[in-house]
Amino acid sequence: MIPNLTEQDIALMSRIETALENHEFKAYYQPQYDSITGRLVSAEALARWIKPDGSVVSPAEFIPCAEKTNLILEIDWCILYEVCRFLKKRRTENHRCVQIAVNFSRKHITEEGFRQKLCEIVDSYEVPRELIEVELTESAMMHDSSVIVELVSDIRSYGFNVAIDDFGSGFSSLGLVKDISANVLKIDRSLLSGNCENEKERIVLESIFAFAHRLKLTTIAEGVETREQLGFLRTCDCRLIQGFLFAKPMPEDQFGEACSKRVIDDYNEDILVTQAPASATTLLMEAIFEKFPLVIMANLTRNSYYMMAYENFSATSCPSTGVFDELIIHGTATMHPDDQELFKTTFSIDNLIAAYNRGEKYVKTVTRQIGDDGIYRKVETTDFFVKNPSVDDVLVVTLCQNLE
Ligand code: C2E
Ligand code: MG
Ligand code: MG
Repeated sequence: MIPNLTEQDIALMSRIETALENHEFKAYYQPQYDSITGRLVSAEALARWIKPDGSVVSPAEFIPCAEKTNLILEIDWCILYEVCRFLKKRRTENHRCVQIAVNFSRKHITEEGFRQKLCEIVDSYEVPRELIEVELTESAMMHDSSVIVELVSDIRSYGFNVAIDDFGSGFSSLGLVKDISANVLKIDRSLLSGNCENEKERIVLESIFAFAHRLKLTTIAEGVETREQLGFLRTCDCRLIQGFLFAKPMPEDQFGEACSKRVIDDYNEDILVTQAPASATTLLMEAIFEKFPLVIMANLTRNSYYMMAYENFSATSCPSTGVFDELIIHGTATMHPDDQELFKTTFSIDNLIAAYNRGEKYVKTVTRQIGDDGIYRKVETTDFFVKNPSVDDVLVVTLCQNLE
């Protein structure tokens, strides 16, 4: 027996049960577009209850009751079946298929056999798993975190994509986003109030996109309704756009046509014209990281540093942030014994500040450093002196590259 059910809930529950038996729940599809090219690249499946008289009931009217009564589990599976059937049909008919996101209530987190059922359904339709994205709402993250971290990691390891839905709608735990191996972050439309003109709101959004991109998450903005919102989201490098500006959720046939059409007609713009400085900067940084996999920012006056790029460098044993002197001690220990003195004296704070005071633009040296794999490689380390207009501190950007 389920507690707290009103008489209305009980009546609706039995109507939902009948509707499930009669296959009245259908998936509507809302396309998701690449923010720069305007190409339709994926979609979200949203449940609709189509009554025998053809009227369409929206989720707001049945999801709350379905959540209370656990019927949501059946509705979600039913939508997954619908999506798989649709994708299988498209594949059989050689039509273009795009990735589809399916909403899963937090109730699935404790559903027995969830993982197996997910794989079995998708595999039984011979749908490639990467075409399915499992959407878990942010509020699901409030569940016992170790359980959800493990669940998401398992689902990813089976080959599905996982999105955190409604991010920013109220229950965010930034720490959890860091621990969960989801690969997509859906920014809730409540963060896009008006035309994104409010300065504080813009800063919040910019920061969310910046941290999401650093965590290598694909970003989707939901509920985009205006050109102004789109313009601002592009400057944040938001990857995908879902919203009434481009398309509302639509029935299967209509979505199939939209999928085949590919490009929104008036959207065929030159990427450089639409590219905002933020996205250009991101591209530039990526090009720099390609050549210099270790980039360090240091403040010699304050004896501090942090690493901007590090993951792909051959040696990763130094802490990625901390005291500059200690970094040099760490770094020296990773050098070939014959190069240790050279490294230590070249990059001591005293030597660097003296070079800065002589007006030198940079200090550069080549040493042999042992990698994580135990192999010595020649590394070129260049410390560039840079100015920040708001302080007199002596700042340095270090670029390191492996020469062999
Ligand atoms: P959601 O998963 O965050 O889905 C996005 C909702 O935003 C959809 O509402 C969509 O129609 C709406 N939306 C998209 N673009 C715009 C826009 O530009 N402006 C406005 N005002 N709204 C926009 P919908 O289809 O009514 O679904 C509402 C919620 O119901 C969904 O939010 C999701 O939480 C839940 N839901 C829908 N289908 C399912 C399902 O199959 N399973 C589960 N568990 N929940 C579902
Ligand atoms: Mg969703
Ligand atoms: Mg959402």
